[in-house]
Amino acid sequence: MIKVTNLRKRFKDLVVLDGIDLEVNRGEVVAIIGPSGSGKSTLLRCLNLLEQPDDGIIQIGDATLDAKKYSRGEVYKLRKQTAMVFQNYNLFKNKTVLQNIIESLIVTKKMKRDEARKIGLALLEQVGLSDKADNYPITLSGGQQQRVGIARALAVDPHAILFDEPTSALDPELVAEVLQVIKAIVQRQTTSIIVTHEMAFAREVADKVIFMADGNIVEQGTPGQLFDHPQNPRTKKFLQQVS
Ligand code: ATP
Ligand code: MG
Repeated sequence: MIKVTNLRKRFKDLVVLDGIDLEVNRGEVVAIIGPSGSGKSTLLRCLNLLEQPDDGIIQIGDATLDAKKYSRGEVYKLRKQTAMVFQNYNLFKNKTVLQNIIESLIVTKKMKRDEARKIGLALLEQVGLSDKADNYPITLSGGQQQRVGIARALAVDPHAILFDEPTSALDPELVAEVLQVIKAIVQRQTTSIIVTHEMAFAREVADKVIFMADGNIVEQGTPGQLFDHPQNPRTKKFLQQVS
């Protein structure tokens, strides 16, 4: 479960999150769409304190954090609840695929290397890359690199996975393979928030779609409601532009 209450973030004079309230139930898949600069990435980054919110309460799993006042321990606990999949993969270039995936298990979770390897290899199988364990990221296609990024996110067994435009850096012909992997994962178990501009994908996998503009949630609903019967003029305009 994710519950965000009155989340606020500004960069100097620019209000980027203008009091966001958001709830994602356990196992639910929420897609966030909206124009460039509307605050989608900032929202995801505030959920794990990659970005420091100015105000608001963040609850994820069994962690709660008040942006006005928190301890390092609370940050640590909150960060453990989520894993993020980035647009540009953010893999360690000097580590193999398998090392990338199990690094956090060994360093953060203090797991024995053999045990971590077993988990890593199973995850590689899930994302269809069993034969690439010992490759370096640079030898993989973008789609393969992103699938490593997804396996790495899964490795820590997070309460929720946050995807920030996971396919937008990919060549068009590589998008489908990554979306397929994400779909298999989010539909199986994981609570997830996916920022995406793949509208067909959002419609297919999301339980709920949120339209953001100017740091606000303008409208939200089931894919059917939001895509077929948008109520707000801004939602309608955005959907016309992207379709
Ligand atoms: P996109 O669809 O292009 O990824 P977005 O909805 O993810 O856009 P954000 O990246 O959250 O938008 O940015 C929201 C606003 O905050 C933008 O105007 C951006 O320029 C600004 N912004 C983001 N990060 C910073 C920063 N570190 N310093 C100053 N301004 C920032
Ligand atoms: Mg963004």
